[in-house]
Amino acid sequence: MEFERRFAELLGVPAECSKVVSSCTAGLHLALATLGVSRGDEVIVPSLSFVATANCVRYLGAIPVFADILGPDDPTIDPADVARKISPHTRGVICMHYAGFAARLPDLVRLCRDHDLFLVEDVAHAPGAAIGGRMLGTWGDAGCFSFFSNKNLAMGEGGLVAMREADLAARVGRMRSHGMTSLTLDRHNGHAFSYDVVELGFNFRTTELAAALGLAQLGRLFAANARRAELTSRYRELLGRCNVIRLPFLNAPGNPAYHIFPIVLMPEVDRHAFMLASRERGIQTSIHYPPIHLFTDFRESFGTAEGLLPITEDYAAREVTLPLHPGLTVKDIEIIAGEVIQVLESL
Ligand SMILES: *Cc1c(COP(=O)(O)O)cnc(C)c1O
Repeated sequence: MEFERRFAELLGVPAECSKVVSSCTAGLHLALATLGVSRGDEVIVPSLSFVATANCVRYLGAIPVFADILGPDDPTIDPADVARKISPHTRGVICMHYAGFAARLPDLVRLCRDHDLFLVEDVAHAPGAAIGGRMLGTWGDAGCFSFFSNKNLAMGEGGLVAMREADLAARVGRMRSHGMTSLTLDRHNGHAFSYDVVELGFNFRTTELAAALGLAQLGRLFAANARRAELTSRYRELLGRCNVIRLPFLNAPGNPAYHIFPIVLMPEVDRHAFMLASRERGIQTSIHYPPIHLFTDFRESFGTAEGLLPITEDYAAREVTLPLHPGLTVKDIEIIAGEVIQVLESL
């Protein structure tokens, strides 16, 4: 598929290592399956992420073990806490490049190598981002991207897995299509009359139509990310002096993807009141994220509770996400920031 090849080119990986799937969630599931995760294994994950980052572990009967974040200035997974959570059952680590900013990849790569663990990158927020001249999604054993409608590169529903090992990528390719050895297209073209099923697979394919949308978006990705960078920088100029908010990632290295614009309110600010008052002024805000370990299903399944991850819990209680997408203008950002400052002064 053309999109697969073009995305591999963008990442700088061999074309055969790049596999389009139906979603990032499906991609995470297949990446972990081909990396050998099975019942009873543990995989260390951030709790400050979308629930799919942890659910993919559970699909394989394995246990998500949550690690804390570094802090409000860098709310990505803390390699030191990951190290503390390693047990004899640990098989690997999933990091997530929150808001489009790289997690501590060199440290995580070293830690995983030293303990013979795999590293999977959840790159749903960060297509087109890089640090040290190397694209995010190519540092670990697998990089899983999302092309859902609200992501930096959208095709409606879709995802892509970049596997480091070509043989594992071939397995991802087979498992996304029922575990079958030959494609419908090959049979249609007369290359094959029958097929075998060699392992348990799924229907995790996407459609040609979605991939065609993706191709058009791919051509605009870097320009759209640059636009997000420009808007982020204006937000930072306008909100940086406000003493009741803190802005994460001010010293981020490399080229982030600026997926969302998170701010962190000082403890004395009532977040609910702030979000309500913003809505009354026509500004939509959201929260990234309610911590995964505090969801009912996780509490009931794994006995997780408040106090498990103090830094994540503190961040998640104070974070607010302001509007950011490439369709906004610098003028829009100035209006939003002005309203936000007025709301904060009125509380
Ligand atoms: C959106 C998202 C996902 C899931 O992506 P889908 O393509 O919708 O499955 C996974 N992880 C993170 C961090 C996300 O933001």
